[in-house]
Amino acid sequence: KPLVVAIDGPSGSGKSSVSKEVARRLKLAYLDTGAMYRALTWHCLKTGLDLQDGAAVEQASKELALELSTSANVEYVGVAGVDITEEIREPRISSAVSAVATTLGARNELIRRQRQIIDQHHRRMVVEGRDITTVVVPNAEVRVLLTASEEARMRRRGLQLGGTQTKEQLAAQVIHRDAKDSTVVNFTQAADGVITLDSSDLDFDETVETALSIVGK
Ligand code: C5P
Repeated sequence: KPLVVAIDGPSGSGKSSVSKEVARRLKLAYLDTGAMYRALTWHCLKTGLDLQDGAAVEQASKELALELSTSANVEYVGVAGVDITEEIREPRISSAVSAVATTLGARNELIRRQRQIIDQHHRRMVVEGRDITTVVVPNAEVRVLLTASEEARMRRRGLQLGGTQTKEQLAAQVIHRDAKDSTVVNFTQAADGVITLDSSDLDFDETVETALSIVGK
């Protein structure tokens, strides 16, 4: 029986860790769509491509030899045999990724691949991103928008990066990126039929339990 759990949300909402744990608990495959945009960005920077050149970015998206783990227990992202699992989380990628993600031709290509991956997993998968509930799988069995206050998101991202960043650096990474991203995808408000899960005042376990209870309904 198909069970796609679509989870959207801004950066720092706890989306990735919560989505992975939900996938483990439900024994579902897991797809991190953000990792796909990050891998494409890594590839474009590597090949010295102009990120403002939409046609070139689109072409790169079509040729991208992407390897992506679909297990919540194995983190792996590769391009043509090169392990970029760690590198795609670097600030240089985070600050360039929106330029790639706002290239419509590249988005269409990555969305096509995402739907293909979901089908390959017989539509039993937790899929997280920004446009999963609205564009990639609007007919998902479960659709959740995971939100958190700006303050909570900056705090979490700060902890994730080891607490060495200034408030301005964090704001640049979290809030400015969301502002750029939301010019093409709306993940600040839940679409019709999408359940909002506000995690501002919940700890990790509580957020997972709430997400699981939404799936169980
Ligand atoms: O989730 P994560 O922060 O890794 O996503 C990285 C970037 O990928 C986002 O800032 C956004 O530009 C892009 N993205 C997107 N659509 C998705 C997932 C990610 O545009 N479904």
